[in-house]
Amino acid sequence: MSKNKMSQKRKELKKCMKRLDALQNELAKRKTYKRLKCYMEQLKELQNEVDRRQPRQIGYPVSGSLKIPHPVKLHEYTICFGQLDNCGRELLEDALNARCYAYAPYSNFKVGAAFRSKGGKVFTGCNVENVAFTPCCCAERTALVKGISEGCKTFNAGAVVAYHPAGYTTPCGVCRQFIHEFAKMDIPIYIAQAPESSAKVPAFEDDEEVLVTSIYHLLPHCFSKY
Ligand SMILES: [Zn+2]
Repeated sequence: MSKNKMSQKRKELKKCMKRLDALQNELAKRKTYKRLKCYMEQLKELQNEVDRRQPRQIGYPVSGSLKIPHPVKLHEYTICFGQLDNCGRELLEDALNARCYAYAPYSNFKVGAAFRSKGGKVFTGCNVENVAFTPCCCAERTALVKGISEGCKTFNAGAVVAYHPAGYTTPCGVCRQFIHEFAKMDIPIYIAQAPESSAKVPAFEDDEEVLVTSIYHLLPHCFSKY
C-alpha cells in the first residue's frame, strides 16, 4: 500500500472514530434522559403520596369567622391555695366539705362542688351514684340544681374537688354544658385535688396547687340556640 493510500485510510478511520464518539455521546444522552424521566415519574408519585397523607391546610383561621362567637375569656392559671382570694378559698373549702357526703359505693370516686350565686349564696353538692349507673348525678349538677330550685339562676363562680393521682379532676362534658347554661358571662372555676387523708375535717395545705380555669375555657364552643 502506498503512503498516500495509508494516509487516506488513516483519515477515514479518524473520521469514523469521531462519528462513533458522537454516536456514543448521543446514546449516553438518550439513556440519561430516559433515566431522568424515570426518576421524575418516581418523584411525582412520591409527591402524590405525600399529598395524600398530609392533611390539607385549606380555609381560614376560625378567629375570623362571624358565625362563631368569640366571648371574652377569663385568665386560666395555677396558684397556691394560700395565695387565692377569699372567694376561691371559701368555695374550695365548701366543695371539700360537700365531698364528704359523696355517695359513690360503685366507683369510690368522691367529688364535691360548690357554686356561688349572683346574690352571694353558696350551694354545695356531691356526686350521687346509682346501681343502674345511668341515673348518676355529678357533684356540679347537684349543687347547681339545689340553687336553681331555690330561685337562683345565675352563678358567678364554682369549685370542684376530687382526688385523682394523675392530676386535676375537671367537670365532665355534661356538667360543662350545664354550668354554661347558668353563667351569663365567663365565670371562674376553681379546681383542686382533695387531700388523700381520711381526716374527718379535711383541709387544704397553703401550698396546694389550684387550677383556676373558667367555663369558657372548659367549653369553648358550647351548644346554644342563639
Ligand atoms: Zn359531670
